[in-house]
Amino acid sequence: MRAVGVHPDAVVVTSRMWQTTCTAIRVGEEAMLIDSPYFPDELDALPALLRQAGFEIGALLATHADYDHLLGRGAFPQLALGVGEPTAIRLRGEPGVAQKGLRDADAEYYVERAAPLSLGSYQSLPVPGYVGLGDQELELHPAEGHTADGTAVFARWAGVLCVGDYLSDVEIPMVHDLEAYRATLVRLAPLVEAAETVVPGHGSPHDRDTALRLLDEDLDYVDGLKKLPAGRETKRQREIHEANLQRLGR
Ligand SMILES: [Zn+2]
Repeated sequence: MRAVGVHPDAVVVTSRMWQTTCTAIRVGEEAMLIDSPYFPDELDALPALLRQAGFEIGALLATHADYDHLLGRGAFPQLALGVGEPTAIRLRGEPGVAQKGLRDADAEYYVERAAPLSLGSYQSLPVPGYVGLGDQELELHPAEGHTADGTAVFARWAGVLCVGDYLSDVEIPMVHDLEAYRATLVRLAPLVEAAETVVPGHGSPHDRDTALRLLDEDLDYVDGLKKLPAGRETKRQREIHEANLQRLGR
């Protein structure tokens, strides 16, 4: 797990698993954590790591309902998890799926976890919409296409944009719905233009120019569904590509 300051009031912590990111954002004394690391030891260490950096987390948010982004309560069990309304709908519509996803991944990688995924009574937030943090507001923008749900979170005052599973430098688009995915990329473009740092769900935080390049590459990919973006042509990414073709009936 590694932590990188991307702004005086924002830290991105990256898990050893799939380079899954979580982002702590602070306004005055109030701090929020978006998404989560994966491994139990990372979740155990996270509160102290963030406290040392001056982030006393008082709220949790998840960008979408895939289990690897829902583990914040593993680090902060006393807090409720906030999710965009589409994510709340998805969680309600497929009870137990996130829990099973985590169980299966843990089994595959021989990970021991003291307790199963507990979502508690998550709080549903309107998207598009806003969620308050101190005397600021985080913007919530719809971001479907990777999954049926998805929310991009923009701390505009800090220039930090957390997009969930889009604009990754390590993963090609995992596409659930091609038109929705494309529309999300188009919707993200002006947000990226207005951002200083773009945090993908997996991979490295990017500066604006890098994020715009990835956005172009990902648009090219979803338009043709043929050539993998340069620099992401690994065996695993070719498997994801094949799964995309299968899922989309190509
Ligand atoms: Zn993910």
